[in-house]
Amino acid sequence: MSSLSDAELVALHLGIDQLIDKSKSNPGGRILIASDSFSNLSALARGPLKQANDSRKDLWRKIMDLSRKSDEVIFMFVYGHTGIAKNEMVDMVAADTLRIVKTRQDDLPVSISGIKSLVQQHRRTEWLLTMPDGRHRQRICGTKKTLLAERDSWDRREQSEIARLRCGEHPEIGPYPRRIRGEKDNTCRWCGQDPETVYHCLNDCHRLRDLRRRLDVNTERLAKVRSRSEAHKILRFVEEAVQLITKKFDEKRNRVRKIDAVSDEVGSPGIKRARV
Ligand SMILES: [Zn+2]
Repeated sequence: MSSLSDAELVALHLGIDQLIDKSKSNPGGRILIASDSFSNLSALARGPLKQANDSRKDLWRKIMDLSRKSDEVIFMFVYGHTGIAKNEMVDMVAADTLRIVKTRQDDLPVSISGIKSLVQQHRRTEWLLTMPDGRHRQRICGTKKTLLAERDSWDRREQSEIARLRCGEHPEIGPYPRRIRGEKDNTCRWCGQDPETVYHCLNDCHRLRDLRRRLDVNTERLAKVRSRSEAHKILRFVEEAVQLITKKFDEKRNRVRKIDAVSDEVGSPGIKRARV
């Protein structure tokens, strides 16, 4: 049981050991160490005093030893599996070694971080399996975490509005506004046919089709929204959809007022005053 990051760390140790050996007989010169281990390179970049892992602390000692014996030591990140000749070669050697060597777990050290990550992974899988399928959030985003790459530049309102839409609990569309007013009826206010959910408004409601097309909005967009401009597009959809329903409501209220006025003028007891 060993994590990929631990295996890559061992490879860095072995590589630097060899370089130290070589630099004894041939000191000086510039050394370039290329690795596709992003996690280890980022951790090493924090510096020798900020290493929590003993193996990385030890690696830093070796790097300092190597830098004393050479003019310059440069670390470079390379993408794996992209056809870089030497990277492909080490990948092949690693795969071959895995097939040949039949090492028992007793012979291999197990790191605490490796155990932690395995337990976390296991608990996460267990949690995902117990997640009910029909939830609005899962219907929109699946089991993936929310990706908000530019969220630091979003203001508080944008972040909370998008999060509310993802959960299906938005204060202006979906079942939430009716529920807080204690209304039992949850028929869509736009089409008057299906139950009103955020999903329905964004994807299915035929009365909002034109608006949806014009602003290019659907749950697919909501699931993947990463930039502020995309978030604005969705929030604009909500705003305009609410404006449409407010307009419809105002027109209805004006019609009722006219009926009221006419019934007052006529003074007929037979005409019942309509209420909004
Ligand atoms: Zn509808």
